[in-house]
Order: sequence, then structure tokens, then C-alpha cells
Amino acid sequence: LEAVVRILVDNRVGMVRDPYLGRHGLAVVVEVPSEDLRVLFDTGPSKDVLENNLRVAGLGRGFDAVVISHEHWDHTGGLGAVEAERVVKPGGDEVDLLDGAIVATRTFEGEYEGEPMPERSLIVGDLALIGCCHFRLEELLEEYEPRMVLGGLHLMGRPRRELDRVVEALLDHGVRRVFPCHCTGIPESSYLANRVGGEPGYVPMELRVEL
Ligand SMILES: [Zn+2]
Ligand SMILES: [Zn+2]
Repeated sequence: LEAVVRILVDNRVGMVRDPYLGRHGLAVVVEVPSEDLRVLFDTGPSKDVLENNLRVAGLGRGFDAVVISHEHWDHTGGLGAVEAERVVKPGGDEVDLLDGAIVATRTFEGEYEGEPMPERSLIVGDLALIGCCHFRLEELLEEYEPRMVLGGLHLMGRPRRELDRVVEALLDHGVRRVFPCHCTGIPESSYLANRVGGEPGYVPMELRVEL
């Protein structure tokens, strides 16, 4: 079984001719063609950006499930652009979306500017999709043991020693490829990818993941 994971909205657009929009935010599409399953992880900052990038990618607006990592505008803003049978919001326990192979994690107790910010991730086989990582990354690495990590790690402008702490945590927990994007920051994403393996994420980067 194979999942196709594609970054659909991110701060950065790669060198493609198609008119994707790059905006501060995150949305990632997970498709399992053989199961006819389509899941959207986060929705980017606004309806028009998500609508545009879905259209450019040749994707429809219908999803089996939308998983919202946390209630920040740059992850929830595009929700109105899609139709979903099920919307999984932060709060509560794990939600199994495909026989344990695709799972919305339990809600981690994150924090943002001193306030609680509950946040979920999405596990796709060996890959963990992370919205902004307002929670302690080690908790997720210990509980779900992903080998690859894609998404926002909230490291924009952070000092080198903090990046090194994250690199150590990733390597210590067996992560071998990272695709940092969104709030990780561009130089910080390159640094992480160079140290751990992988590459900085961008629209419309695509990964194939064995389930
Ligand atoms: Zn964010
Ligand atoms: Zn956030």
C-alpha cells in the first residue's frame, strides 16, 4: 500500500511554472489511490489560496477527512474551500483513518505565547506530518517513532543551539529524513535537512510513503 503525500500550501513555492501561491501557512494532501482515500492535513491561511492550489494541482475539493493540527489561522483559514465527510479538530484521542496506517495522533498539550495550544499531528506510515510543533517534539517522537518528519517545527530565527537540540532529538529517536517547511524558517530548514537528511519542503513537493 502506498500513500502519496503532497505539500499543497506552504510559505515557499518551488521552481515550477504552474501558478501555485505561496503564503504563510500549511496544507498537505495525503492520498492512498488503491483505497480511494484522500485526507487533507491543515488548510493553509485562506480559502482563495487553497482553492487556487487545489485547482493548479488538478485536485478536487472533496476529502474523506480533514485533520486540523491546531487552531491557528494559517492552518484553519482554508477550511471553507473543501468538502469533507469528517473534520478532525485538535482535542481528544487518536483517530484511526486507515487501519492504523494513517492516524491523527492524540492531542499534545502545546503552548503559544504563554497560552495553551492543543495540537495534533498526522501519522502516515513512517512519516509524521507536523503543523507548527507548539508542543514538545520529543513526546511525538517517543510515542509514534516516525522515521521521517514533514512540516512546521517553529524554529524561524531561533539560535543555532536550539536547532542543534532539535537535530539531536530527531537523530536520537531514529528520524533519518526531514522535510521542514512553514514556520521552520528557510535557513533553519536547510540546516536541519543537512544535518539529519532530507530536504526543505516546498509546494508542490511530493513524497511516496510505504504503508
Ligand atoms: Zn503555523
Ligand atoms: Zn501555530
